Amino acid sequence: MIKRALLLAALLASPLSAQTHPAEAVSEERLKGDVEKLVSFGTRHTLSSQDDPDRGIGAAVDWGLAEFKRIGAKCGGCLEVLPVSDTITAAPRIPTPTLVRNAVAIQRGSERPNEVVIVQGHIDSRVSDPLDFTSDAPGANDDGSGTALVLEAARALSGTQYPSTIIYALLSGEEQGLHGGRTLANWAEAQGYTVKAVLNNDIVGNSCGKDGYCEPKVVRVFSEGPRADLTERLRASQTRYGGENDSPGRNLSRWVADLAAEHSDEMQVRQIWRTDRMGRGGDQVPFLQKGYPAVRFSVGVEDYDHQHQDLRTESGVFYGDTVEEMDFAYLAGVTKLNVRALDALARAPMPPEVSIDAAVRVDTLLSAKLPAGAELIDIAMRRTNATEWASREELEGILGSAEPGLEVSEGEIITTTLPVRGDDWMFGASACAGEYCSPVSSAVPGGAFEPVAKE
Ligand SMILES: [Zn+2]
Repeated sequence: MIKRALLLAALLASPLSAQTHPAEAVSEERLKGDVEKLVSFGTRHTLSSQDDPDRGIGAAVDWGLAEFKRIGAKCGGCLEVLPVSDTITAAPRIPTPTLVRNAVAIQRGSERPNEVVIVQGHIDSRVSDPLDFTSDAPGANDDGSGTALVLEAARALSGTQYPSTIIYALLSGEEQGLHGGRTLANWAEAQGYTVKAVLNNDIVGNSCGKDGYCEPKVVRVFSEGPRADLTERLRASQTRYGGENDSPGRNLSRWVADLAAEHSDEMQVRQIWRTDRMGRGGDQVPFLQKGYPAVRFSVGVEDYDHQHQDLRTESGVFYGDTVEEMDFAYLAGVTKLNVRALDALARAPMPPEVSIDAAVRVDTLLSAKLPAGAELIDIAMRRTNATEWASREELEGILGSAEPGLEVSEGEIITTTLPVRGDDWMFGASACAGEYCSPVSSAVPGGAFEPVAKE
C-alpha cells in the first residue's frame, strides 16, 4: 500500500507512542483465571442444564453476562450487555427444542455507531460424543481460550472511546452446528449494522502438537476465497475478471498479517487461504454466508488429543481439553493481536467502494468513494499472481515519483489515472483516518465490504 497523498483534510491523530496502547493491558493471569472459571462449570454443552446455578451452559452464559456487566461498570456503563438468543429446533445435533443463548456486550461508537467490528469465541464445549451433555467437558482450549480472549479484549478496550462500535460476543451452540454464530449474524442483520469485520477466535491457547512440534509465535488466520454469498452472475463475472483471492475476508486476513508484522517481536500470522480447517468449520461461516467480512484465528499447531475428547488415559496417553495442556503466554499473544486489530479497525473508516476502467487503454482510471470518517484514500496494487499488496517502496518504483492526476468530484468520488496497463495488475484502495487505514477493498467483482445484493 502507498499513501498517494489523496489528502482531503490533514487531521492527524496525536502520535500513538504518547499513550499506552490498550494491548499492553492484556493479562496472562486474568486469561488463565477466566479459563479456569469456565472449566469449573463442569460441562458447557449446549444441551446441558439451563438453570443449574453451578453446572452447565446456563450458569456459564450467566457468568459471561455478569462479567461483561462488571467490565462495563468500570467504564461508567460503556457496555450494553444483553443475551442474543434463539430456540433451535430440528437440527442434527439438537434433538429437542433448545434455547441457544449468546452473551453479548456492545461498546457503541461515538461517530459511526452503526459501523461494527465483532470479536467472538464460543462458550459451549463437548467431549467425544457430540450429544453427550452430562460428562465433564472442560473445553479449556476449545473454546475457553476464545471466550477468555473476548472478555480480556473488552477489559482492554472499554477504557477508550472509538468512532465505530465494537461488539464482544460469547457464542453458544457452536459444537451443535454453529447455532450461536448464525443467531448473532441474523441479529446483526436485523439491527441493520454495517459489519466492517468479524474476528472469530476458536482454539487459540496452545502452542504444541501431539508430535511435539511447537509454534509459540504463530497464529493462523483463515479466510475464504470466492465469497460465500456469490450470486451466479457475480461468479461468472469473477471468472472473467478475477477476484477469487480478493474477498473482503481475504483482504482482512492480509491486513491482520501486516498489522502483526509491524510488531515483529509479538505473535505473527500465517495466513491460511481456506475458510477453515480440513473437514471442519467455525462461527465465522454464518457471517460469511451473509456476506459479512470474517476470519478465523486458530493456533499454528493443533493438538488433537486435547480437544473434543472424553477425559481418560489410554496406553499412558492423557486425552482431554484441560487447562494443563494450554499455553497462556500464547493465548496472551493472540489476545494482544486481536486487541491491536480491534483498536485499529474501530478507528479506521469502512474500506471504500473502488472500481477501475482499464479496458483497451494504456493507463488505468481508478475511482474510490470516500467513506464516512475518511480523510484520505490509499491506493493498493499488486501483480495478478502476487499474494500480497505491493509495499510503499515497491509502488514508488512502479508509479514513479510523480503524483498521479487527481480529481475530487462533488459526490466524494475520488479518481486518479495510474500509468500502468490494468490487465497486468490487481487494484484496490483503503480508507484512512489519521494513521488508521482500513483493510484494502479490491476493485474486482465481489470485492466490496458489503453483502452482495441479491438479484
Ligand atoms: Zn471450537
